[in-house]
Amino acid sequence: MIKNKSIQYFKGIGPARAEAFSAYGVNTIEELLYYFPRRYEDRTNFASISELKPDQVYTIKAQILANDQRNSWRRRKFSITEAVLYDFTGKINCVWFNQPYLSGYLKTDATLILFGRVQVYNGKLQMSNPEFEFVDDEDNDSLNIGRIVPVYTLPQGFSQRSMRKLIKNALDEFLPEANDCLSFDLRTRNNLLNLSQSLLNIHFPQDSNLQKQAHNRLSFEEFFIFQLPLVLRKLKRKEKKGIKQTVDGKLVEDFVSALPFKLTTAQEKVLHEIKADMALAQVMQRLLQGDVGSGKTVIATLACLIAIQGGYQAAFMAPTEILARQHYDKVASQLSGLVSAKGKIRVGLLVGQDHNQGEIYKDIKEGSIDLIIGTHALLQERLSFKNLGFVVIDEQHKFGVGQRALLPKKGKNPDVLIMTATPIPRTLAITLYGDLDISVINQLPPGRIPIKTLHLTHEHKQKGYAILKQELNYGRQGYIVYPVIEESYALDIAGAKKMFLELKDGEFKNFRLGLIHGKLKQKEQEEVMLKFKNKELDLLLSTTILEVGIDIANATCMIIEHAERFGLSQLHQLRGRIGRGKLQSFCILISDAQTNESKARLAAMIASCDGFRIAEEDLKIRGPGEFFGRLQHGLAELKIANPLTQMKLLKAAREEASKLLKLDLSLKDSAHKLLKAKLLQRFPEYELLILVG
Ligand code: ADP
Ligand code: MG
Repeated sequence: MIKNKSIQYFKGIGPARAEAFSAYGVNTIEELLYYFPRRYEDRTNFASISELKPDQVYTIKAQILANDQRNSWRRRKFSITEAVLYDFTGKINCVWFNQPYLSGYLKTDATLILFGRVQVYNGKLQMSNPEFEFVDDEDNDSLNIGRIVPVYTLPQGFSQRSMRKLIKNALDEFLPEANDCLSFDLRTRNNLLNLSQSLLNIHFPQDSNLQKQAHNRLSFEEFFIFQLPLVLRKLKRKEKKGIKQTVDGKLVEDFVSALPFKLTTAQEKVLHEIKADMALAQVMQRLLQGDVGSGKTVIATLACLIAIQGGYQAAFMAPTEILARQHYDKVASQLSGLVSAKGKIRVGLLVGQDHNQGEIYKDIKEGSIDLIIGTHALLQERLSFKNLGFVVIDEQHKFGVGQRALLPKKGKNPDVLIMTATPIPRTLAITLYGDLDISVINQLPPGRIPIKTLHLTHEHKQKGYAILKQELNYGRQGYIVYPVIEESYALDIAGAKKMFLELKDGEFKNFRLGLIHGKLKQKEQEEVMLKFKNKELDLLLSTTILEVGIDIANATCMIIEHAERFGLSQLHQLRGRIGRGKLQSFCILISDAQTNESKARLAAMIASCDGFRIAEEDLKIRGPGEFFGRLQHGLAELKIANPLTQMKLLKAAREEASKLLKLDLSLKDSAHKLLKAKLLQRFPEYELLILVG
């Protein structure tokens, strides 16, 4: 099989080139064939120089009339290589900056193919830094001329031409051996090219239609392999015996009737979904998506009570100590009046590895604690439960996949609720978190007034301070958020510390200021937070540790300095710290944003307060790789497929994965041998999962 053959012994690749390839994840012949072009050039027809228009991208073929090399008179070390090129129809100037070695290559009369954007400079058309290749013998150059030509990201030591030649040779030699992991039937159902045709046309398309089909087929394959483990995990889970929880009972009823508010329709709906799941003797793995402040925590608490009223223990894991404590304070007070069949409900808190907490380990082990709330301290080996029946994981993306799996292992197939405040579009979520069931709270509690968001440049920062001061004068509280902790000379950003000293005795000298940042000890952070919560402080200066969860309804104003330094989802999370009560809140983004991307982020923040809309924008702006990369998702590794633009294909791939595994869960059938090999090559960790099945 080709997949195992190292490229090193292939004609044209020695140890040095093999190593250069290795940096791009290419070690075997198969990986070489899957090293796809980054773009294409249609060289069946070149544009004539006379028809070029500014601000468009062209491929032209032209000869060098003259070339020149000089240093910029403004900046000494800055070299400019210039060439005048012509074809039958006209002339154009081309310039390359800081590539002085070029002038040696660009010999008069040489013929080039150039690709780049045409601009107007000094009233004349010009291409700056165009990509180019030499044409030597046109009649004998069918790989580079007169066709749609692939353009690759080049490992060191390659030119486009040598790369094309190498790939072509590899295709010629190994395509006959390339066995298709997608069955004939599956391909027919989904209208997909076979593997050989696809690999051939992704590198050297016969025409643009076949290139598209090749792209389609290879994307499908990528989605398919990606969906298999997700579907597998889901099917396996459905096979496991879970806990049949006591969904109707006094505890839940008492809790709901003691709440100072009515659940929203969306909360009711989600609670219903959770109850239906928990009532079954199956294992629940449900993702609860909901915007910041949509009331996920109440629902999670209710689900914990379902387990508790059936005699089980529940565990609630949060990503930071501050959050765990906040949940604990709230939940402990909400549950203080509640009595179960066993007696008073007992809630415990476990954060850090505090050695004075010996007592609590004992209580959890003996079952006298019903609900334990904590940080990743809950994952410690020494912690064991009497009968853990329910697990909540808050802000799931802050934990690794492995960490998420650890806590449920402390029980016997407990039900699991995973929560996230970084929602993604629903159709996408269904496929991306394909091993989970999904619930969405798509509504905020009533009476919330949308936050007013505005953007000011640094020059007009005073206006922001004025709004903040006015809010503080009304007896409300506020935040100023900075992107860094200490002054970083390199970035020239005033850090929170420095600003704290400056504002305390200046602009905000009539108010009580606090400072909180990641370099403070945990204990100190908590002290400051507590003071702020108790209204002993008016204004909190902070770095991004404010990001998740902190819930203080009296805080109505937030200034975010250097807003362009934050990601969109992060800005939205930050803003979620205000607007939590019944008062009008203000979010002021201070930024001299320059790039289009940062401008787009600020515009999205001003346009909407809806977390789903914001997440969609974020996805669009950053692209799926970046977006999901941060959310620790395998999707970041997709090479060719794009879930945003190929949603239909992704769904089809998922359906096929599901159809296949329902028939042959362990991929035992010899017809699936190739597919299984490919799956395990990509996700080796699934070996076990398949074997046990
Ligand atoms: P999330 O965890 O989704 O960010 P929380 O559960 O912290 O949101 O809820 C935000 C605030 O709204 C809390 O103070 C909570 O008590 C309150 N809340 C939750 N549900 C409702 C509701 N149905 N009506 C009014 N207030 C609610
Ligand atoms: Mg929350």
